Amino acid sequence: MKTQILSNTPENINTAARLLACGALVAIPTETVYGLAADALNGSAVAKIFEAKGRPADNPLIVHVAEFGDIERFKLVREIPEAAVKLAKTFWPGPLTMIMKKGDVIPDEVSAGLDTVAIRLPSHPSARAIISAANTPLAAPSANLSGSPSPTSAQHVINDMDGRIDAVFDGGDCSVGVESTVITLAEGTPRLLRPGRVTLEQLRNVLGEVALDSAVLNKLKEGQKASSPGMKYKHYAPKANVVLLKCGDEAFIDYVNRCGGRGVAALCCDEDVEALNVKHISLGKRNDYEAHAHRLFDSLRRIDGYGDIVTVYTRLPSTEGVGLAVYNRLIRAAGFEVIDLEKS
Ligand code: AMP
Ligand code: MG
Repeated sequence: MKTQILSNTPENINTAARLLACGALVAIPTETVYGLAADALNGSAVAKIFEAKGRPADNPLIVHVAEFGDIERFKLVREIPEAAVKLAKTFWPGPLTMIMKKGDVIPDEVSAGLDTVAIRLPSHPSARAIISAANTPLAAPSANLSGSPSPTSAQHVINDMDGRIDAVFDGGDCSVGVESTVITLAEGTPRLLRPGRVTLEQLRNVLGEVALDSAVLNKLKEGQKASSPGMKYKHYAPKANVVLLKCGDEAFIDYVNRCGGRGVAALCCDEDVEALNVKHISLGKRNDYEAHAHRLFDSLRRIDGYGDIVTVYTRLPSTEGVGLAVYNRLIRAAGFEVIDLEKS
């Protein structure tokens, strides 16, 4: 299959929408990461997403809408909980996904057999324009090969998906850089399943009580069921081994310099750069967690781009604010292995 690259023009919004309405796969920009979109109401179009990504069939997809009213218009959910209305007023359009009891129109391919559906209204103008023009909600997971870092530019999508999908709409780099925050409203107390740019603290400000799913920070125990199936896989990983170090700033620099040499790199912060004598990529200033989120996946892909990196060392991130989203991605990229230098 030849993958078309669509530049950001009004005609190409219509081309992308027409392809999607005919059951094709088109990667589209969103403010979080690029999504691999298909008509969410067309089960056989959605099935092609799983094939193109190599995504496990039990990992459900997020349905993207252009307007809050689309949820009712397409009967995507059984009922809209009060909490969803409150959250939408504060965070939509934007990087928040809400899980609700699904409507009958949702194909099994989208919900992966669950009785719920995940819904998001993105803020990226091209994403909204394409969804509106396609006149159907779009199911769209991240547009990477399953397991690898999510794509934050059209070039990342092409690197993974060229020849596997019909088109990529190039809307520039993604501003947030990590996937949406996922909260479930489908049962009892609202629960955060995946952290993102909308933080736990912000959700609690709107809803009061919000629980943190244990799989956000910890590896699932043998036999434990994942509330969000995507959280049980090793994920977001570059080809190089990611090693997380729990330590202070000086200890980080000393350790990495001692391990230094061929095949070693550091994913670091601006303040470390001068003292490091190994290859390095900075995520930004130490306390700028938004910058870390924005640069994370591109940096992991650039590490592999060096061609000779076997191990990349980075600090265990803070779990505060947007730091929690970075922590959640890096701990999975590292297969949950952390070296605690404070203990040794
Ligand atoms: P991605 O599309 O790559 O950002 O992945 C979507 C994430 O949302 C995955 O972690 C899924 O497991 C999760 N997800 C989607 N739908 C549901 C659902 N109905 N219930 C729980 N988690 C979901
Ligand atoms: Mg993904």
